[in-house]
Amino acid sequence: MRKKIVAGNWKCNTSLQEGVELAKAVNNAVAEKGAKDVTVVLGVPFTHITKVVENVDTDRINVSSQNCAAEAKGAFTGEVAASMVKSTGASHVILGHSERRDYYNETSEILNKKVALALENGLTPIYCCGEALEIREANKQNEFVKQQLEETIFNLSAEDFSKIVIAYEPIWAIGTGVTASTEQAQDTLAYIRSIIAEKFGNEIAEATSILYGGSCNPKNASELFSQKDIDGGLIGGASLKADDFLAIINAY
Ligand code: PEP
Repeated sequence: MRKKIVAGNWKCNTSLQEGVELAKAVNNAVAEKGAKDVTVVLGVPFTHITKVVENVDTDRINVSSQNCAAEAKGAFTGEVAASMVKSTGASHVILGHSERRDYYNETSEILNKKVALALENGLTPIYCCGEALEIREANKQNEFVKQQLEETIFNLSAEDFSKIVIAYEPIWAIGTGVTASTEQAQDTLAYIRSIIAEKFGNEIAEATSILYGGSCNPKNASELFSQKDIDGGLIGGASLKADDFLAIINAY
């Protein structure tokens, strides 16, 4: 059975102290009440990873970076390599978030390198894809997402592809308060699963966790998560409040 995953993306928010408090609050609540069979991931700023890892039970709470370098190491001032992320105790890395594609010009070529380095270093990529509003309005979201996947993670071997988590995040729903309707989210995730099946076969498609992201909150999470192809969420704003994030984890 594929994994249900609720992953927070804190983006560029929280001081180190605030972040550690937030992580502890999530950790303690999950320790007390459990998270059913949901895999919980905290996507924290690079500066916070080590301390967050020290302050949570990593058997219950997985820690993720929000990016990694496209190079293994060397003279790349300001970059953080996948091997460095791994050495902190993190287990996941968010890659291809639309904010990185749009504001930092992350192309498919760059993402290919990042995904390969993440996998080489034993990190699980949470690979984001999703269309802008004008593409959705033109009803071209399936073609767009297919191209994003074909140019990046569909080049992987079946073995490597099996290690990837996909997050479908329509850009028009990220941070806007506008959630994709349950039907839009389910339809696109079902489409993604169908093209994984065409490329890698049914067994891999059925085992791939595909998350929805975009203004997911405690009110809409259970309906979204009740859908056949939605295996959890990538949560931005609501992951910054422990109570909201915990309510989303418990929405299953
Ligand atoms: C995100 O940035 O990954 C995200 C889903 O943000 P939000 O939940 O705030 O829309």
